[in-house]
Amino acid sequence: MFCKHCGQQLADNATFCGQCGTPVVQQAPAAYGAPYGAAGQPPNVPTHLVGAILTTIFCCQIAGIVSIVYAAQVNGKLAKGDVAGAMASSKSASTWMWIGVIVGGLINIVAVAATVIPAIIAASAE
Ligand SMILES: [Zn+2]
Repeated sequence: MFCKHCGQQLADNATFCGQCGTPVVQQAPAAYGAPYGAAGQPPNVPTHLVGAILTTIFCCQIAGIVSIVYAAQVNGKLAKGDVAGAMASSKSASTWMWIGVIVGGLINIVAVAATVIPAIIAASAE
């Protein structure tokens, strides 16, 4: 390895640079993050967490919370190397997010209609 300060080549077990005296910070081993496998690239599995949270706030709390639970499982499963499980959780999070959007959207439409239509009827009856 090399000194980060002056670039001097150092022994692998060195704790100080012999050239400039800078303490050597041992780098994390390359195997760190190994659950992703020797190939290196971590799989890109969307968590849908933001969409799940927005669904919970704006659309439908129950479906949104189910979606958040699945979304929260994605990174945990990825960290364990369970890519298939992470992708399944990601898909479930997406499904429940859309259920929340559709159901929440319908409820909002019904709620608006229930408020507006009687008002229109009352206004036209006068
Ligand atoms: Zn140095």
